[in-house]
Amino acid sequence: MTSKAFVAGHPVDHSRSPLIFRHWFERYSIDGDYQRADVPPEGLADFVAGLRAGAFVGGNVTVPHKQAVLGFCDAIDKAAAAIGAVNILAVEAGRINGSNSDWYGLLANFDDRAPGWDEKPGSAIVVGAGGAARGVVYGLALRGFSPIRILNRTAEKAAALAKALAPGIGAELQGFALTDFTALAREAGLVVNTSTIGMHGSRFADLPLASLPDTALVADIVYTPLRTPLLAEADARGLRTIDGLGMLLHQAVPAFETWFGFRPEVTPELRALVERDMGLT
Ligand code: NAP
Repeated sequence: MTSKAFVAGHPVDHSRSPLIFRHWFERYSIDGDYQRADVPPEGLADFVAGLRAGAFVGGNVTVPHKQAVLGFCDAIDKAAAAIGAVNILAVEAGRINGSNSDWYGLLANFDDRAPGWDEKPGSAIVVGAGGAARGVVYGLALRGFSPIRILNRTAEKAAALAKALAPGIGAELQGFALTDFTALAREAGLVVNTSTIGMHGSRFADLPLASLPDTALVADIVYTPLRTPLLAEADARGLRTIDGLGMLLHQAVPAFETWFGFRPEVTPELRALVERDMGLT
């Protein structure tokens, strides 16, 4: 029988996850199906309750449900608890297990694109304090980065996020305003943008990379466009850079393995397929 999975979000039309999962079904000859489910916030409780009947082996959860869905799970893994967000649901004997693979996607992408990037973990800057910043901070802390400085347009949100994440994370977390970047950059070996800036031509009004050390690595989790203005500026300064597309691809690996019992590979072929579909190349 075909094993079915889904991605639930609102809106969800833009999700490339079906493309990724269908590529793997074909490549590994797995009898699977993966579809989009547009679930408005007021419909989330009923949607999750309906999963208990077993029509799906599980599914991904995306914006705006990643935090709200926590409350509907019967159990969540350690990472989801620390991060405060779930992006994978697995249905097992009528129970809903929630887990999180955003942090894994980030780390696997960094390992792939910049081997050795975490050999001397020190101070890191995470720009943005929204949903995506949570998994990024968790992942960097796992690899030993500390202090992790969260810089946000709204400084209060950065401080609140640092406080909320601190209990489950073995790193010193601090919240700052975006305008503190220059003062903090001198010590930072790594900068990760998790804000929406960079999408569709937007750029930071004032995020000067000049004071970063020459050895710094600059990464963006925004992948539309692939080469964001931040990455272009870092390239121009001769810094190492990593784009965000690999994070999207790698975060799907644990989900696929959970539902279909097979660990798929992120290959250049898959990356090219998604780039073509998005019109990125
Ligand atoms: P979110 O929860 O809505 O957070 C948005 C963040 O962007 C907030 O920190 C917000 O600051 C900041 N921001 C928005 N407009 C800004 C502006 N004009 N100037 C400065 N900061 C601004 O979004 P999210 O879910 O965290 O997602 C953020 C980005 O990450 C999106 O582009 C998403 O596509 C991408 N993403 C990529 C992956 C991947 O796999 N590569 C995974 C997840 C997310 P305020 O708090 O001040 O509003």
